Amino acid sequence: MRKITTVMILLLVVSGLFAQTPGPMKMKPEMTEIWDPEVRVITPGETPSQAPSDAIILFDGTNLEAEWTNGNGEKPEWIVADGCVTVKKGTGTIKTKRVFGDCQLHIEWRTPAQVDGESQGRGNSGVFMQGIYEVQVLDNYNNRTYRNGQAGSIYKQNPPLVNACKAPGVWQTYDIIYTAPRFNEDGTYFTPPTITVLHNGVLVQNNVKMRGPTEYIGIPEYTVKKHGPGSIELQDHGNPVSFRNIWIREL
Ligand code: MG
Repeated sequence: MRKITTVMILLLVVSGLFAQTPGPMKMKPEMTEIWDPEVRVITPGETPSQAPSDAIILFDGTNLEAEWTNGNGEKPEWIVADGCVTVKKGTGTIKTKRVFGDCQLHIEWRTPAQVDGESQGRGNSGVFMQGIYEVQVLDNYNNRTYRNGQAGSIYKQNPPLVNACKAPGVWQTYDIIYTAPRFNEDGTYFTPPTITVLHNGVLVQNNVKMRGPTEYIGIPEYTVKKHGPGSIELQDHGNPVSFRNIWIREL
């Protein structure tokens, strides 16, 4: 029996060698090389903070009106001086004239050197993606607050991985990679917005899914509504927080 089985196997192997059925093609290295279209060439900035050649400069330290308005679409009243713009209490949010969806945003911010207030009352502002999703700006250098409301948090949704705050009066950076939501016909998220945030070069939000628009009171999921691209907005929370070197790359 064993002999017969061996002969059968041999026959199968030999017939396989001469069979015309096509097998997998022998791969060559170049078969998995993709050349076109060529990856776009850009010129990076001298430092990671400096805008690369394909960025839109949203604020160059001097001309705020070029790219920004107040919340009503009029001239912004925030104070431009010494290469930065500072919140003018009570004048409200400022927002970009342009609207954005998926993007990479670089923004530098500074909370007042003179410490005034505590918890949420100290150096509070915010960067709103599409005008409705807030990355919190706050002075959390030796200043406790609720963890999902501190600097680097997705406000009231997700705390930062670490507290990477510098001291009051020192310039800090946010580098934000944002993917806008896609919607179902009924206005619910097909894919929610996702966000990655580096605070002073440190990862604090790692491709986090947002639950919905930022809500001070209430549940974000309840207020999801279909929307298109939106402005970048900066919050007037009554504290004189400053911003500079704001640039964005559309993705
Ligand atoms: Mg805020």
